[in-house]
Amino acid sequence: MSKLHILIFPAPSQGHITSMLNLAELLCATTSFRVTFLVPAYIHRRLSQHSNATSRLNHLPLRLHPIPHGPHEDIRPGSFDVKDWLDSLSSTAQPSLRELLADDEDPIDCVISDGILSFVLETAEEAGVPVFYMRTLSACAFWVYFCLPHLIQSQELPFDCDDLDLTMVNLRGMEGVLRRRDLPRCCRHGLDSRTMQTIMHQTLQTPRPRGLILNTFDHLEAPTLDLIRTRIPNLYAVGPLHAHLKTRLTGNSSSTSLWEEDKTCLKWLDDQPENSVFYVSFGSIVRVTAEAQTELWHGLVNSGKRFLWVVRTDSGGMEIADGGRGRVVGWAPQEAVLAHPAVGGFVTHCGWNSTLESVVAGVPMVCWPHFGDQQVNSRFVDGVWGIGRDMKDHCDRVVVEKMVRDVMEDRSCEFQRRARDLAKAARESVVEGGTSYYDLDRLIQDIRDVCS
Ligand code: UDP
Repeated sequence: MSKLHILIFPAPSQGHITSMLNLAELLCATTSFRVTFLVPAYIHRRLSQHSNATSRLNHLPLRLHPIPHGPHEDIRPGSFDVKDWLDSLSSTAQPSLRELLADDEDPIDCVISDGILSFVLETAEEAGVPVFYMRTLSACAFWVYFCLPHLIQSQELPFDCDDLDLTMVNLRGMEGVLRRRDLPRCCRHGLDSRTMQTIMHQTLQTPRPRGLILNTFDHLEAPTLDLIRTRIPNLYAVGPLHAHLKTRLTGNSSSTSLWEEDKTCLKWLDDQPENSVFYVSFGSIVRVTAEAQTELWHGLVNSGKRFLWVVRTDSGGMEIADGGRGRVVGWAPQEAVLAHPAVGGFVTHCGWNSTLESVVAGVPMVCWPHFGDQQVNSRFVDGVWGIGRDMKDHCDRVVVEKMVRDVMEDRSCEFQRRARDLAKAARESVVEGGTSYYDLDRLIQDIRDVCS
């Protein structure tokens, strides 16, 4: 069989890179495909500096290919505009992309593009190269974005923010589950919201490519996946990708961090009792105000629980000192932290990677979502999957303390039991006979078929 050459293009942010690099490694580890993985030069530099990705990838037919980047591309928390980001990326990346797609010496057979980069789809279509999309969010959040035009048509959007607890009635499959406050935050800013218009435009292109790859698994999101299939029949649910990679790879999977991981916190965790520590992290983009951070800190301290808190140097907020029951790091080896027996809960922003990593580790969550898909994910964590509490819009010390206690002191152990059950289902989905395992094989076969 000939070595097919696949080009993978993620949006340049930690969450997108992590899941798409996991997919790239999976494809290389399980097939004879070669992968060229496009990243802006500054991301390439940071990956080389802080992750073991570049050295690990030396053993795989996977090449990280740096491309130029423009002025708006390095995400600066607090001043981030998704439209500027995508426009800038499109204008600076397109020449390199065209060049790669026209290279007769080393032709590209197929493109897997991040589903928020429609310029990649257009450029590849012009070059006659088949495209698959990957979206790095949950199926439930994808479906919400996909339904926004319908919500506008049925006049449920825009809404008056005075009553955010009203439940949505025109969101197919989620009637009565989602309230106004659970929609992506941009929905609160009226129809002119640049973020909403941009994401809606990108999402509406999703039926155009050959298929859609999602980092989720059937057991977790079956009803929503069925709904998406009614509009996008060729769907591949291949997640959780980080767990999937572990089952198909011999040896350890790579770290994909853009920041230096402080591994000393694992030693600190070794000295803590089992299930006694709350891990606190808000991912790579969220900026926490000093006021909110103060409330969170008081809530945690008042709960009497130990905590390991990630405070990125660029995340704003106040200085939090180590000491007593708490430990603070700049960036943690998150998967290893969540898998540590001392960790019994996760205060998270509910980014999709973090949510899935918590699901796989069987750790219940206290969710404090900020924007994007996080609002939808946290509602599902609490109201549908029952593996945590959602404190959206109510982050004060009393609520934090209560929810932390709810999760960690739950006498009936319901959160823990459901978290353990879901973790088991996640692991089962990525081994032979599992749904994600099957979908990955189907994807690989479909890529071969469209390239033949
Ligand atoms: N992460 C990490 N160390 C940290 C904080 C986060 O390795 O201290 C990783 C985390 O494991 C996840 C990613 O960064 O894979 C964040 O992605 P997510 O989708 O959760 O959130 P985003 O950063 O996109 O908001």
